[in-house]
Amino acid sequence: MTNNFIPALREQLSSPKNIVVIPHKNPDGDALGSCLGWKHFLDQMGHNCTVISPNEYPKFLDWIPDQETIIKFNQEEEACQKLLFDADLIFTFDFNSLGRIKPMDEVINKCKGIKVMIDHHEQPDDYADLMYSDPSLGSTCEMVYNVMEALDVSKINKTIATCIYTGIVTDSGSFRFQSTTPITHSIVSNLLDLGIDHAQIHQNIYDTYSFGRLQLLGKALSNLVKVEPLQAVYITLSQEDLNSCDFKKGDTDGFVNYGLSLEGIELAIIMIENTQENIVKMSFRSKGTFNVNEFARKHFNGGGHNNAAGGASHESLAITKEKVHQTILEYKDQLS
Ligand code: 5GP
Ligand code: MN
Repeated sequence: MTNNFIPALREQLSSPKNIVVIPHKNPDGDALGSCLGWKHFLDQMGHNCTVISPNEYPKFLDWIPDQETIIKFNQEEEACQKLLFDADLIFTFDFNSLGRIKPMDEVINKCKGIKVMIDHHEQPDDYADLMYSDPSLGSTCEMVYNVMEALDVSKINKTIATCIYTGIVTDSGSFRFQSTTPITHSIVSNLLDLGIDHAQIHQNIYDTYSFGRLQLLGKALSNLVKVEPLQAVYITLSQEDLNSCDFKKGDTDGFVNYGLSLEGIELAIIMIENTQENIVKMSFRSKGTFNVNEFARKHFNGGGHNNAAGGASHESLAITKEKVHQTILEYKDQLS
């Protein structure tokens, strides 16, 4: 955090403001947890705060406190535009480029409100007036906690702690990724002291599979391919696979990680066909030094973190799969 971030933010929040908080498209636990935690914090400070999501989020997040107050841009565009144009302050959480909230980016570019970015992705764009970017931290929720602590730690209550914990636990792979630090655990210790029900939160997130979702996992695992002789695997899921398992948004979240659970594997990729949007959505995960942010940026119109990134292909699933296979082979020196 730069030295002037907190004083500048404190100044902006010194009188009641109209505020909008925005997560990235297809928001995950970290994006929603950070936005809603921050909304609860700002509500207590007497601000008028609304969370606007570019679109819907998965069912396994539809229990986070106050999620029902989130307005979806793709459902209520006019109401969202009004809120955005009237906002004194616009917070953007858990993304580093306005391209991650399309088509809301066109509205944001015309808004007069002060823009504040809090995010932990590599190579952030320069669109915000105030920016707290730290790719070394495991979650945006950890960053939002740091900001709340600096502003007024006494306002962090159990509801806020529940939101923040959700983002920390989901983005850290339940505390197992490299980005988990002693500070992460010490923040979590404070959250537990505030009385959060961590076992229930875990159940809400991870133990609410539908029958179709578990069947889809079965299909994903049986479609797993190893790129011999390298330490890399990929999974494909066609639109037909999804349809046959009554696919709902979020059902494939986490599937890519199963590839990394194989001994020795350093790169795992999942490709998911979406015939409606005419894209193949991709997720990249790695262990150790293989940098999937660079890989996704260079070859698949994406980006993210060193060990977790996303991207998309506009080719067919078959062509994308072949491109992935051949591209992985180009990295034989790093993946042997
Ligand atoms: P996931 O694979 O879970 O969708 O995303 C992994 C990470 O990469 C997340 O931090 C996410 O924000 C980022 N990410 C996912 N898709 C994209 C994309 O299309 N472009 C960029 N720049 N980042 C992405
Ligand atoms: Mn995140």
